[in-house]
Order: sequence, then C-alpha cells, then structure tokens
Amino acid sequence: MEKSALVYEGKAKKLFQTDQSNVLWVEYLDQATALNGAKKDAIHGKGALNNQITSLIFQWLNEEGMTSHFIKSISKHEQLVESVEIIPLEIVVRNVAAGSFTKRFGIPEGTLLAFPIVEFYYKDDALDDPFINDEHIRLLKLATGKEINDIKHLAFRLNQLLCRLFADIDIQLVDFKIEVGRNKNGKILLADEITPDTCRLWDRQTKDHLDKDIYRRDLGDLIPIYQEVLQRLENYLAKEQ
Ligand code: UDP
Repeated sequence: MEKSALVYEGKAKKLFQTDQSNVLWVEYLDQATALNGAKKDAIHGKGALNNQITSLIFQWLNEEGMTSHFIKSISKHEQLVESVEIIPLEIVVRNVAAGSFTKRFGIPEGTLLAFPIVEFYYKDDALDDPFINDEHIRLLKLATGKEINDIKHLAFRLNQLLCRLFADIDIQLVDFKIEVGRNKNGKILLADEITPDTCRLWDRQTKDHLDKDIYRRDLGDLIPIYQEVLQRLENYLAKEQ
C-alpha cells in the first residue's frame, strides 16, 4: 500500500490517499488541543499512544460484531481505514454528568444519569460546534430521519459495549464523542477514533481522570496517563485470547 496526497489535516490526525480509492492512510499526530484549538501543544508520544489505543478498541469492537471504518494498524502511529463520507456531527453519549453537560444544566460533575443520553453537535469550528437537535439536522440536510435513528442506535449499542470493556479494566466510561460516515453503499459506519482524547475515563476506585481532562484542566503530564489506559487494555485483551 502506497501513501499519496494529503486529503485532510485535523487537530490530531493527518489523512492521506492511497493507491486504493476506498482506503485512507491515517497518521496520528503528537499534538493536543483544547478550547476549540485555542490551547495547543506538541506532546511527544501522544500520536502513537492514541493510534494503539483506538486500534485495539476498534479491533475488539469488530470481534463483538460492531464494524467500523478501521482496517488495520500499520505502525505505532499509523493505520488504514475505509474512506467514508463523514457526517458533520459530533455525537456525544453520556453516562455521568461532566464537562459541558454540568455547565448547561447545573448538575454536579459525577452525578450518575438515570439512563444514557445521546447529544448532537454540529461540527463547524467557525460556529463553535453548536448543540443541535434532530429537526435541525434534517433541516440542514446533514442526515435523514432514518440515518439519525441509525446513528442513535449505533451510539447506544456502542455505549453498552464500551461500558463493559472499560468496566473490565476498572474504568468508568463517563462520556464520549464519536463521528460516523456513509460508506460507498450508504451504510452508516463508526469512524474517527475512540481514545482518551474523545472519552472521559475515570478510574473506578480513585475517580482519577485517565483522559484529556488532564490536559484541558492542567492536571499534569498526559503521557503516563494514556500509557496506563493502553497498558490496561493490552493486559485485558491478551488475557481474553
Ligand atoms: N469531545 C470531543 N471533542 C470535542 C468535544 C467533546 O472528543 O470537540 C468529547 C469529550 O472528550 C468528552 C465528550 O465529548 O468525552 C463530552 O464533551 P463535553 O460536551 O462535555 O465538552 P467539553 O467539556 O469537553 O468541552
């Protein structure tokens, strides 16, 4: 497989074309951002950790029957994925109140929600990724009513699987963000990444943050924390085989 033209450069990843039209080459970058890019730092080793974490999770999900755009990891910081048309939505699932949810509804951080909820944000940096509902999504023609239902179904099923995986490594899955895309057959596929950048992960015993809040809230060095998450996943998945 050959890497060719750069097709997209995001805050934490670069995407390249390959010699196969439906396959993209993803390079995870040593970069952390927060506050919609206003806070930005180079963090050596972060790209490799995130690539390894998301690759393990996507592989495990595949074995559990949830397919995604993930094809395979090709180096510590690179992977191949199926090219999909990304739907410009950030889809957030919450199990416990944290972050923007606590501010919006005045509910203290750490409050267990009576049931998991899904929220949509319109992925548009210029508009600061506003909160958006099903009607807005249909009105702006970002997705059809059927696709919105499919996305919610996918998000809740993924939440069940991820809660189980993380509970088994003594981590509470507080919330997470995913992105989805349409493949060439129009099927909605899980895409992007599942990493401590995109999830809130709390140690079940100590309630310590094992995620990007370390960086957002200046709580210390992010690298040993991400290493800890990778280590727990590796140990657990090695035992499962
Ligand atoms: N999140 C993300 N990218 C974003 C915004 C949020 O990956 O641009 C993730 C975040 O890590 C958390 C969840 O989505 O796991 C919910 O984030 P929230 O809405 O609470 O926003 P935040 O407090 O991170 O601004």
